[in-house]
Amino acid sequence: MHDILDIAVMHTMRMDDILSISNLHKHYVRNGFFGKKLPPVKAVDGISFSIKPGNVLVLAGESGSGKSTIARLILGAEEANSGTIRFEGNKVDYATGDGVEEIRAGCQMVHQNPYDSVNPRMHVSDIIAEPLQIHHWKGDKKERVLQVLREVKMEPAEEIAAMYPHQLSGGQRQRIVLARALALKPKIIIADEPVSMLDVSIRAEMLEIMESLRKNSSIAFLYITHDLATAKYFGDNIAVMYKGRIVESGPARTVLDDPRHPYTQALIDAVSDPDPENQNREKTVRIDEKNSADLHGCAFSSRCPYVAEQCSKEPELDEISFERKVSCFFPVRASD
Ligand code: ATP
Ligand code: MG
Repeated sequence: MHDILDIAVMHTMRMDDILSISNLHKHYVRNGFFGKKLPPVKAVDGISFSIKPGNVLVLAGESGSGKSTIARLILGAEEANSGTIRFEGNKVDYATGDGVEEIRAGCQMVHQNPYDSVNPRMHVSDIIAEPLQIHHWKGDKKERVLQVLREVKMEPAEEIAAMYPHQLSGGQRQRIVLARALALKPKIIIADEPVSMLDVSIRAEMLEIMESLRKNSSIAFLYITHDLATAKYFGDNIAVMYKGRIVESGPARTVLDDPRHPYTQALIDAVSDPDPENQNREKTVRIDEKNSADLHGCAFSSRCPYVAEQCSKEPELDEISFERKVSCFFPVRASD
């Protein structure tokens, strides 16, 4: 039996979506000194999106905007307060176990830090074979390990498989992490800042491998990043987050070339300013210490150059043109 909300969600969800989340919420309760109650942190505050096979959705936004929390909720590392997660059309319920095995095999994670993500005492072959063991892979495990090493351009695969992580560079380790994520032939990979700890010179290499995976194997990506340049290169669509909400979404290139939300515009301005002093000061995009629970109306209003009376109300994420949504009463143009 489906409840009414469930039927409404199914109606808006396209059947070919690999992953879709709907109205996801995660609020953290905070305790201050001497038992003083503080307002909750609205880390994820009503987020919805969907991803199709071979598509890349970028989640962008400053530190603390809720990006990694979304990844943790999708993978069941934390429990959402409310909302729906669907994997290949089926509802995932971590409380009852419904759909959990499917999403755990079909949705894999690549974390930011390649040094934390691998066991230094294990051979590369065992690191990659681990998910195959856990999920009782039926085929030849050794052959699958070599296959994925080749897919991430780690060759000669037989030699690499016999190595320990300390024998590899940071960039190579991150490719091992990607190889492990690929072992079970996932439908989607959640990559949380996968290249931000790598040397600039090897970032492109890693992104090219990810690009070829989505092109040749139709693997979808939820690509979490601060880096708008790689977002534009790798992303099909982008969702810009601010304080647990999506403030703007749409095709990555269009949004980044012609941002309509003042926050997206400020993010872009901050990285495109050639003066290094201004970049350090992060211009208008500074960390706002106020918690969203303290604010009324638009969460960005306290920092917005275009703030008006109407902004004391909360704007909806409205469609302004085909596939483009903006949560602002006064959407701007980049040329303004
Ligand atoms: P970054 O770009 O720095 O990785 P992020 O966008 O991934 O940031 P999250 O890690 O998702 O941000 O955190 C979102 C908010 O939730 C932050 O304000 C953070 O302090 C808060 N938060 C995250 N985990 C917890 C927790 N376990 N308890 C309380 N607050 C938390
Ligand atoms: Mg994060």
